[in-house]
Amino acid sequence: MKVLVINAGSSSLKYQLIDMDTVTVLAKGLCERIGIDGSNLQHKNLVKGISEKIESPMQSHADGIKLVIEALTDTEYGVIASMDEIGAVGHRVVHGGEYFADSYVIDGKVKEALKMCIPLAPLHNPPNITGIEACEKLMPGVPQVAVFDTAFHQTMPKKAYMYAIPYELYDKYKIRKYGFHGTSHKYVSQEAAKMLGKPIEELRLITCHLGNGSSISAVKYGKCIDTSMGFTPLDGVVMGTRTGSIDPAAVTFIMRNEHLDVDGIDNLLNKQSGVFGISGVSSDFRDLSAASESGNEHAQLALDMFYYSVKKRIGSGVAAMGGVDAVVFTAGIGENDGTARAEIVDGLDYMGIKIDAEKNKLRGEAVDISAPDAQVRTLVIPTNEELMIALDTVRLVSEL
Ligand code: ADP
Repeated sequence: MKVLVINAGSSSLKYQLIDMDTVTVLAKGLCERIGIDGSNLQHKNLVKGISEKIESPMQSHADGIKLVIEALTDTEYGVIASMDEIGAVGHRVVHGGEYFADSYVIDGKVKEALKMCIPLAPLHNPPNITGIEACEKLMPGVPQVAVFDTAFHQTMPKKAYMYAIPYELYDKYKIRKYGFHGTSHKYVSQEAAKMLGKPIEELRLITCHLGNGSSISAVKYGKCIDTSMGFTPLDGVVMGTRTGSIDPAAVTFIMRNEHLDVDGIDNLLNKQSGVFGISGVSSDFRDLSAASESGNEHAQLALDMFYYSVKKRIGSGVAAMGGVDAVVFTAGIGENDGTARAEIVDGLDYMGIKIDAEKNKLRGEAVDISAPDAQVRTLVIPTNEELMIALDTVRLVSEL
């Protein structure tokens, strides 16, 4: 079956067409500036190795998806003869609230629940829903599946996901820890079990998704029991431009003393903070490393704060699970930045976590970087959220 994977943002739409019989990505691309002047589609045919940039006005996500289908079926740079070859569509959806602990085939009831989740992700869920409705219109009869960033974390016990605020606020607004990057944590957990040659039900894993946004999960016997992100993706470790965990009293202090309103503080915490806020240089780890090497102390401090916050989250995950069998690094930093991995696990050998300096230099593939005498395995596994979405889509569609 060929699965179209759609990730619709507010003014963008990413897609991949994956042949799941051979597990090959046939084409992928990106619609940018939807609803804005200068909208365009960048399409890559990975079978022939050709790229095409199509400048065309896109008023809506429906226009974008129409163009995507035209590109996929184009005689020159397309990869399928007709739309009928698309067996199912898998949609990335950011927030599934407490409604979705798994991916779901989309029907009227699922859409209702998706709309109920809008207050929890007001910037992300509406474009996700628009993308779904556009596909339903353009591809009637083709099953659509929703895959949620939050679903994998729904197995957390109540003591892990509740905040110690008046209980009525949980009842009223469903304020609690949800966790994000669930598709990535699930994918690398499954891949780790394969690499270790053990059933996932026998493994205690710490999965570290370290990118612009970062989160660390404790995955015990295949189920997430805790994760570092919270009610929103602002919580947890220090990130590119986000604070991570911070004393909430510092937030009210800053608002009062800097005369910031709600939007002002939201912007400060989400966009002006993290390693960018500390260094004043960049949110990109490559820039920070370069700045630190040329003597920028704030850049080095930002890096040290990031490493330290991840190290502490690994420790708390191990405490939550009562031990650990493997630590997994993934995403931009986790997959590529050997210095970050080495700094993060430095000093954790008393827990059995120890990496081999030579193996830690390998890049671009799934690799076990543990030292020969380490009791806990440390793995680097490239994440693949699109493939995870397609796998879930095939699983659910084959049950129909
Ligand atoms: P996103 O959360 O946007 O998906 P990514 O997973 O792509 O983010 O991660 C982006 C981060 O990964 C950036 O901080 C970038 O500096 C870092 N990164 C990417 N490649 C490398 C590399 N080769 N060395 C160090 N850091 C890298």
